[in-house]
Amino acid sequence: MTNTFGGKPHVLILGGGSVGLTTASELRKTLGAEVAITVVDPRPYMTYAPFLPEVGAGSIDPRNVLAPLRKILPGAKVVTGSVSAIRSAENTVVVELEDEEKLEITYDYLVVGLGAVPRLLPIPGLAENAIGFKQVEEATAVRDRILANLGEAATTKDPALRKRLLTFTFIGGGFAGGEAVSEAEDMVRDALRYYPDLHSSDIRFVLVDGAPFIFPELTEDQRAYVLNQLRERGIEVKLETFLNSAENGVIKTSDGDEFESDLLVWNAGVKPAPVLSDSEVSDLPVVTERGPLMGKLEALPDLRVNGADGPLDDVFTGGDCAAVPDLASGEGKFCPPNAQHAVRQAKRLADNIARSIQGRPLVDYYHRNLGVMATLGMYKGVCRLQLGEKEVDVRGLPAWAMARAYHVYAMPTFGRKASVVAGWATNLISRRDIIGIPQTETPRAAFEYAANTGKKK
Ligand SMILES: Cc1cc2nc3c(=O)[nH]c(=O)nc-3n(C[C@H](O)[C@H](O)[C@H](O)COP(=O)(O)OP(=O)(O)OC[C@H]3O[C@@H](n4cnc5c(N)ncnc54)[C@H](O)[C@@H]3O)c2cc1C
Repeated sequence: MTNTFGGKPHVLILGGGSVGLTTASELRKTLGAEVAITVVDPRPYMTYAPFLPEVGAGSIDPRNVLAPLRKILPGAKVVTGSVSAIRSAENTVVVELEDEEKLEITYDYLVVGLGAVPRLLPIPGLAENAIGFKQVEEATAVRDRILANLGEAATTKDPALRKRLLTFTFIGGGFAGGEAVSEAEDMVRDALRYYPDLHSSDIRFVLVDGAPFIFPELTEDQRAYVLNQLRERGIEVKLETFLNSAENGVIKTSDGDEFESDLLVWNAGVKPAPVLSDSEVSDLPVVTERGPLMGKLEALPDLRVNGADGPLDDVFTGGDCAAVPDLASGEGKFCPPNAQHAVRQAKRLADNIARSIQGRPLVDYYHRNLGVMATLGMYKGVCRLQLGEKEVDVRGLPAWAMARAYHVYAMPTFGRKASVVAGWATNLISRRDIIGIPQTETPRAAFEYAANTGKKK
């Protein structure tokens, strides 16, 4: 792409997630048409990930957690493609488009908001059999698989198959994994009323985590509360346990357990977007020490990237791909990777880009954590709220209502907020949907069947 920005500074934003979308809309608000903006993402939408557990539980329609970039960012150029190289020395980024065509884009300012991807371990069968839970299509596929399995299990005469179909395994009990399994179990319990041939004792949900606790961000007391609640609901929580193997859907865990499971959901950690740590394609330096920051861009407090020879004045970063100093928590601390920080960092870095363009001094990022909140199924939740120096513990229905209300507030666009709330209201009246459509993965199957003169292939 040649520079045709009419003399305006060009801000190139890599990633259209929480950081990318917020940065672009803030820049538009602050600088209007004085700046040219390009956003690059392989998906033409931003995914509001905190709602994915409710997508996996059939409580929210998948489309309603997506914010369409082109609609929200009029005037910005949206390039649907993947960043394949970053050459900051030449102010150039290479983007690979759908048809493998390569596009070179130059910039005056670069924002790196590429987020994170699941961190896989070399466990036999994991890559072949598991599914992640970071994308809307993954959460939707989990919902579809679970609901379709209920139908298949209710009719099969094969007891071993039935057992396998009704065994759902989740690895990783952080917020994303813990919420995903809790919401999915809640959906199944709700759906069982329509399956007279199935009993709750037929269903096995297993949550495996290597740590001695789940939901690490909660207080000890709250962790115990959540653990008890999940166990009372029949979710088998295996702590200080590791997945050893998942070949052919046979799960082997480090406590000696071995069982067949038709669904394996991997939520055991993330790592920054891989393009950043490949020095062959990106010249931006990343943290190389082993640990939670490994592979992340080192951000300065003002959110410029710290290069090998000092700050890069035209490269900014934030969100899950960046190690951002957490000034509110003290020296040597870094912001946790969550949407709460990502969105606020994006606002700060957009303002700092405007300041840089206008020749004003940059401002450091400072945000005091507001706490954490999780839904654990209908009417169930837990929140740890940080009100100044005081920590407030909220549980059950009030926590669930607060978490839902907060996420509606944080979900981009009025239209999507309204659709989410309308969907919940409809579910209250007619109960949540129990249809799984796994056939969406093979949309041509019915047509091929017809073409094959009606004979099953
Ligand atoms: C299931 C789940 C539940 C969560 N719940 C909460 C919660 O309750 N509260 C909370 O605060 N946080 C929550 N989070 C975390 C939160 O969603 C993330 O911390 C936040 O989205 C990070 O923002 P980001 O912009 O850095 O990354 P993202 O929002 O992930 O955006 C990164 C973008 O970069 C794009 N991208 C990646 N690689 C490339 C490439 N090569 N080229 C171009 N584009 C690329 C991606 O497609 C994506 O759109 C949850 C996350 C998950 C998965």
